[in-house]
Amino acid sequence: MSAPGVSVVVPLRQGGAGNAVAAIERYLETTGFTFEVLAPENEQYAVALRRGVSDAKGGVIVVVDPELPYPVSAIGDAVAMVDSGGTDIVFASTRAGHRGSAILRSILVPILPDPSIQLSAFTSTAAKIVAGESRLVDCRCDLEIAFLANKYGFRVERLVVQSSSRKRAYATLDSIPSAISIRLANRRNAYRAARRCPVCFSAHVWTAAQIPGNVVRECGRCKCRYLNQFTDDEGAPVRRVLRAHAEVTPPSYEAHSQPAREKTSLQRFNWLRGRLSSRARILEIGVRDGSFGAIAANEYEYAGIDPASAAARQARARGLDVTCASLSSFVNTGPAFDAITLFHVFENVPDPHDALARIKDLLKPGGMLFLSALDTEGLIYVFSEQKRMAQNFRTHLILYSRSALIELLERSGFEIADVGPDFEYRDQKLVRHWLQSHHPFIAPLARVILKLLPDPMIVSTGSIRIVAKRRAGMPLNARAIRSVEPTHAR
Ligand SMILES: [Zn+2]
Repeated sequence: MSAPGVSVVVPLRQGGAGNAVAAIERYLETTGFTFEVLAPENEQYAVALRRGVSDAKGGVIVVVDPELPYPVSAIGDAVAMVDSGGTDIVFASTRAGHRGSAILRSILVPILPDPSIQLSAFTSTAAKIVAGESRLVDCRCDLEIAFLANKYGFRVERLVVQSSSRKRAYATLDSIPSAISIRLANRRNAYRAARRCPVCFSAHVWTAAQIPGNVVRECGRCKCRYLNQFTDDEGAPVRRVLRAHAEVTPPSYEAHSQPAREKTSLQRFNWLRGRLSSRARILEIGVRDGSFGAIAANEYEYAGIDPASAAARQARARGLDVTCASLSSFVNTGPAFDAITLFHVFENVPDPHDALARIKDLLKPGGMLFLSALDTEGLIYVFSEQKRMAQNFRTHLILYSRSALIELLERSGFEIADVGPDFEYRDQKLVRHWLQSHHPFIAPLARVILKLLPDPMIVSTGSIRIVAKRRAGMPLNARAIRSVEPTHAR
C-alpha cells in the first residue's frame, strides 16, 4: 500500500478517544484522501505528540484535540491549506484576530498558537523538524513549536474554527517560565541550527516577515534579508535552497519612461568614466534595455550578458555585443575585463560568494567592479521596509546591508575604492502617484514644487553604489570562510 496522504495524530493523556478517532475516520473517508489516524498514548501531552509525529507517514500531518470540540471538517480545511502549498504550518484559532499574549509574543515570536484549541497542520518536513526538536513535555510545547517554526523559517497561517470548548491548554502567566526556558535552550544551542545566512554564514537568522507564499529571513549579524524557499527534493529535511523566481515579473524599470532610463544610464556612465582609461574593456551584467550599453559602446569596448533572452535580443538589436547567458554560464572569449558593472543585479544572484569569485576571474588584476544595490541599513529602506517587503522580494532574492556588502567584497578579494549613495531618474508622474498614495496631505503642495523641477527628476532610491578594485593574487581567507561552514546548503 502506498504512503497515506494525510496523517492525523490524536495525542492522548489516557485512552478513550475511540469516538473522536471514529468520527475523524468517517469524515476523511468522504474526502477522498488516503489517510491514517494515530492515537499515541502517554501521560505527557508532548511525548505522545512527538511519538505520533515521528510515526506518521503522510505528506500532511494534522494534530487534533482528543475532545474534538470543533466540526470535524476543520481538519479538511487545515489539510487543504497545507496541501495547496501556500503555507507550511497552520495553527487553528477560535478568533480571527487572535495574536496571543503580548508578553509571550515579546519573549518568543509574533505568531503564537491559540491555547484554547490544539488543532494544527504541518507539511511532513515541518512537523518532523519542529516537533522533533521540541523538548518540553507538557502542552506548552505548542509555544516551543511556534518558536521553532520561526527559527527554521516555516510559513505559518491561521485557520479560524468554531469551537465549543472554552478550556485553555495553557495560561499566559504560567507559560512565561516555559517561554524563558525555550529562549535559554536556544541560547545554549540545544536546538538544531537554522540554515545559515547565505552572505555571512551566521546562524543568527530569523523570519523577518511572511509574504504571500513565502518567508523573508533576516540575519542578525550582517542585517541582510533573503527570501527563503524550500525544495523537498533529495529527501533532505533541512536542505533549503534559494531559487530564482519561477514566473518572470516585469522588471520595475519598465515602469519608467525611456528618457528617465536614458538619463539614469548616462549618470551611471559618468560615474564610471572618471575612473576608467579610454578604450577600456567593460562587461555589463544584466543589460536590461541596453541603454547603458548604447552609451558605453561609444567610448569603450563593451560586452553585456543577460539571462533573459528578450532583454539580450533587444540589446543586440541596438547593435551591442550582448550574450544571453548567466554569470555562471558565460564564457569570456576575449581578454580579461578592465571593469564589470552590476546595476541592481547583485540582489538577484542566489549565491553571492560564487558570483564574486566568478567576477574576480573575469576581471584583470586591478580591474574595477561597479555595483549598485539596495541598502538595508539606509533610512529609506528602514522606514519603508514593512510596507514594501512583498514588493522588494518580488524580484530580489537577497537584500544587503552596506556593511555586509563591504565585508563580502573585501573577503572575496576586492578592495573598496568608493562607497556613496546611488541616485536614479524618475518620471514626475510616478513621484506624484507615490505622493498621492503615501502622503495625500502634502501632495498638493508637493505638486507645486514639482512643477519647478525638471522631469524626469533625480531621486534617491535608498540604494548605494560601490566601486571595488580587484586585488592581485589570492583572496584573503577565501578558503577559510568556505571550509568552516560545511553545513551551508549549496
Ligand atoms: Zn548574515
